[in-house]
Amino acid sequence: MQRPPPNFSSVTAAAARLDGVAHRTPVLTSSSLNKRYGAEFFFKCENFQRMGAFKFRGGYNALASIPVAERAAGVVAYSSGNHAQAIALSAQMLAMPAVIVMPEDAPALKLAATRGYGAEVVLYNRYTQDRSEISLGIAKERGARLIPPYDHPDVIAGQGTASLELFEQVNELDMLFICLGGGGLLAGGLLAAAALNPACAVYGVEPEAGNDGQQSFRKGEIVSIPTPKTIADGAQTQFLGELTFPIIKSYARDILSVSDDDLIQSMRFFFERMKMVVEPTGCLSLAGALHLGEKLKGKRVGILISGGNVDSETFCRLLASSSSTRWHEL
Ligand SMILES: *Cc1c(COP(=O)(O)O)cnc(C)c1O
Repeated sequence: MQRPPPNFSSVTAAAARLDGVAHRTPVLTSSSLNKRYGAEFFFKCENFQRMGAFKFRGGYNALASIPVAERAAGVVAYSSGNHAQAIALSAQMLAMPAVIVMPEDAPALKLAATRGYGAEVVLYNRYTQDRSEISLGIAKERGARLIPPYDHPDVIAGQGTASLELFEQVNELDMLFICLGGGGLLAGGLLAAAALNPACAVYGVEPEAGNDGQQSFRKGEIVSIPTPKTIADGAQTQFLGELTFPIIKSYARDILSVSDDDLIQSMRFFFERMKMVVEPTGCLSLAGALHLGEKLKGKRVGILISGGNVDSETFCRLLASSSSTRWHEL
């Protein structure tokens, strides 16, 4: 059954489902950054969302949209990252069984966190086995729903509520920067922006090594690339979705890309200046915005921080790997 693509009313319906369930995350500012760029920055802090990233919004919205009578068969998801935790937590909250298919070499912490939410973890070998085949097999066998990480109308609508809230919290923006992997967060944000603040220029930001979205946007069709090597592990996607791409193509102003070193600089800024831990993928939006430099002058700029899930060893190693004095002059 082909479902219609999501629209703005799907986003407002998702917001109603998430009301009182997801955190209404704060919007923070930095006067030193504002001064340096002559702009007004508004940081939407999804690093403070439940399970540490915006993915809870889409995951919960997708599960809460399943009719109650069909929930007992449960859900299946494949992910080694935030989507797995989002589905595991949402399933626990809705008393649904969940199976998460994860690589057997996934970090022990992530396996433990997923099991901690009560999900059953099925391991696979990422070099020899196909995770989507395994997941489809489990879904078929149990009659469970497979919830993909971005290319699903309820997931996109749920992710859109992060931007919807930001517009409610700060009113009009001139520019909005959104971290981009498969495009769920960006497509949802574009639906909100097009309805509430159509003059706002919305940009997706990807890692340089994985700029399939930028290539697709420029070419006008979905371009697929090999799994990119980048510290932005939430944006190692190979292609945009069949649902996310048309929305991005219609409404995005542009897709920008940034280097891993740019991400580390932004991570350092968040830590030193704003006292926040932001995961590398969550730094894409700020790093992309800062690339526009002078163009930010006089503008009201929204920065969607997508998540904060990074373990302390990785965090310390990344900060130590790149010496920077960029923020010391602020
Ligand atoms: C999944 C994820 C992204 C990318 O989101 P898409 O909807 O796939 O574009 C960005 N940041 C974090 C922290 C994520 O977990």
